[in-house]
Amino acid sequence: MEQRPFSDTSYQQFLNEDMLMGSKCQKCGVLYAPPRQICPKCKATTMQWIQLMGKGKLVAFTCIAVGTAAMIKEGYDRKRPYISGVVELDEGVKMAARIEDIDGTKPEAIKVGMPLTVKFLHCGEGENQKTFLAFKPA
Ligand SMILES: [Zn+2]
Repeated sequence: MEQRPFSDTSYQQFLNEDMLMGSKCQKCGVLYAPPRQICPKCKATTMQWIQLMGKGKLVAFTCIAVGTAAMIKEGYDRKRPYISGVVELDEGVKMAARIEDIDGTKPEAIKVGMPLTVKFLHCGEGENQKTFLAFKPA
């Protein structure tokens, strides 16, 4: 694995390449995703990139009917809410992400504990391209 700095920019670059990456503290072994440069637990700065499998389970969720301007632009509103969730990965890290491929108007279809798998949402073109982390039912 090439050595990129443990920054949000690198994390975003990896997402653009369909890779979900975290950083693992070489001293105490705690895994962080998104990556951290300095371990908040033991203050060590020796990190290592770890590729996450992108599989996990839903631990919490919210259906958002009134979203941010960016989400409204994408066509989400009261009639088409989107789901924001917290996913616990098999590696033990909890990540906040959008939950896709579930009808936001039918929250009863969403179950805490349901297995999820990563989905890379590529938006925009060229320099404006950005990849959002999302999960969908496994
Ligand atoms: Zn540490």
